[in-house]
Amino acid sequence: MSDCLFCKIISGEIPSAKVYEDENVFAFRDIAPQAPTHILVVPREHIESVADLNADNSALAARCLEAAAVIARQEGLRGGFRVVSNCGDDAGQTVKHLHFHILGGERLGDRMA
Ligand code: AMP
Ligand code: ZN
Repeated sequence: MSDCLFCKIISGEIPSAKVYEDENVFAFRDIAPQAPTHILVVPREHIESVADLNADNSALAARCLEAAAVIARQEGLRGGFRVVSNCGDDAGQTVKHLHFHILGGERLGDRMA
């Protein structure tokens, strides 16, 4: 997708603070962190959101979560962490390329919404 911010970050057209990459997945630090550790994990392939997952592409979401486990260890999030994926306008999704937020590095709030 030529006008997608995260596709441009994956291609390197827009710089990012990369923390992990493999064949299917790219991960980088959120530009406006909401916790001491705030990382975005995205599939290289453009999928709009969780609402667009299906039997043909859901393996890529699984790859993202496997990467999240590796990244959490890499970042030393031994006390735990939260994984969030905002889906659509009611959830406040601002970038329409599937992404999983990894939030950690402190005791997170009890409320999720
Ligand atoms: P969401 O609101 O769930 O769609 O999350 C989008 C996230 O992308 C927000 O947390 C933003 O802070 C983050 N973001 C926007 N632009 C950039 C950028 N250039 N580099 C890193 N993170 C970004
Ligand atoms: Zn994209």
